[in-house]
Amino acid sequence: VWEYAPAPESRAIANLKANYQMFVDGNFVDGEGEPLKTVNPGTEEVLAEVSTAAPSDVDKAVKAARRAYDKVWGRMPGAERAKYLFRIARIMQERGRELAVLETLDNGKPIKESRDVDIPTAAAHFFHHAGWADKLGYAGYGPDPKPLGVAGQVIPWNFPLLMLAWKIAPALACGNTVVLKPAETTPLSALVFAEICQQAGLPAGVVNILPGAGDVGSELVNHGGIDKVAFTGSTDVGKLIQRSLAGTGKKLTLELGGKAANVVFDDAPLDQAVEGIVNGIFFNQGHVCCAGSRLLVQESIAEELMAKLRARVSTLRLGDPMDKNTDIGAINSKPQLDRIRELVASGDADGAERWTSPCPVPDKGFYFAPTVFSGVQQAMRIAREEIFGPVLSVLTFRTPAEAVAKANNTPYGLSAGIWTEKGSRILWMAEQLRAGVVWANTFNRFDPTAPFGGFGESGFGREGGRAGLEAYLDV
Ligand code: NAD
Repeated sequence: VWEYAPAPESRAIANLKANYQMFVDGNFVDGEGEPLKTVNPGTEEVLAEVSTAAPSDVDKAVKAARRAYDKVWGRMPGAERAKYLFRIARIMQERGRELAVLETLDNGKPIKESRDVDIPTAAAHFFHHAGWADKLGYAGYGPDPKPLGVAGQVIPWNFPLLMLAWKIAPALACGNTVVLKPAETTPLSALVFAEICQQAGLPAGVVNILPGAGDVGSELVNHGGIDKVAFTGSTDVGKLIQRSLAGTGKKLTLELGGKAANVVFDDAPLDQAVEGIVNGIFFNQGHVCCAGSRLLVQESIAEELMAKLRARVSTLRLGDPMDKNTDIGAINSKPQLDRIRELVASGDADGAERWTSPCPVPDKGFYFAPTVFSGVQQAMRIAREEIFGPVLSVLTFRTPAEAVAKANNTPYGLSAGIWTEKGSRILWMAEQLRAGVVWANTFNRFDPTAPFGGFGESGFGREGGRAGLEAYLDV
């Protein structure tokens, strides 16, 4: 067990610098864009100033990635690429403590989550894909699948390093080179990852990191030198990208929002289900695309389950993300906090019954206490829109068929959960639910061997597993 000292020592553990530069063609350089300041959402203090990219920098990075693809990486045997990926994975583990502290400072997530979930899962993703690099002929896509070329990748702020790993590891394993844009509120771990690429001796231009806001993302995905676009973020921006790429011949995968149903039947082990419900919606402050944000509970057990749930949620500790006892950290930014407040106000106005955890909330920093709405109707905004915060909407059902109908009554289709002792019901439900991932008697489990992705407005394409390779291969 690691001991974490509070700030300012945490800045030293994170090896935090005052200024960060972009990473282009193997070098750290200043971009032509307006520098941005990244803020610790737990304290509202400025962490560092970060150089950002202008259109000319996007062009330089894409050209560097193309050269690296043509001259080095696209020609390198898979077994050689694997060595670099294994090296990157090992350095991520070695620098795990530094990365975990940095991620928590920049994002606001509890240190125990960065330490036990984000960083180890990101490293695992590189280990897994290192193993594929020399075995692509066995992936089921034919004897000698080819890479696509240069990938332009744009990621959100909720799992900064993990989303980077989901994008970069498969791209590199398959022989592509990348230009990645991290989210504007969480660029730091991506820039430390760039240092790790240097440390691993990765050839220049194979990975390029361009911090900046949405305009840089737009410039990147629309650049003529990009062969493939991979985007994770909001459904609105995903649709915008899909429209702007129409007719260009670029390959596209989208990982967008969700409004997952977590369905609890009357025969479920209730204490276990309560843990799964809590994990489903309060993990990472609910900033999770596959969060179990709609609880569907069978009417006969609703009262008992709600009492247990409130008692359990009352014990969650909210506060300093750097405290290793913290369960609920900070909301990533002020705009996100405002969006959560706005949707919660709509739940009140629509007549849902709101319960808020009695936990103390710090005055400084962006925090939102765990909130549970009951008496929610399907037409309410809190039942339809992604809140992306620690807010649960509870609906009831009587029959399995009604549960399926309600669970599927959403334009999204990323994930779902089922709680029941009946194996036959699990299999039937999994078949009926229109969701890319269905968890049974657990929630929010991730593994690099399992494909992840959605249906409908949750996007298309898969990340992880054998299916995830297809996004980066010409099969
Ligand atoms: P967002 O769409 O606003 O931003 C995501 C990224 O896109 C950022 O890097 C942003 O700078 C960039 N961007 C913004 N406008 C752009 C444009 N016009 N062209 C190109 N890039 C642009 O989303 P967000 O609020 O930062 O992230 C939260 C969203 O991401 C949620 O909806 C969540 O469900 C989704 N998400 C999905 C998954 C998944 O795997 N399906 C994973 C994590 C997050």
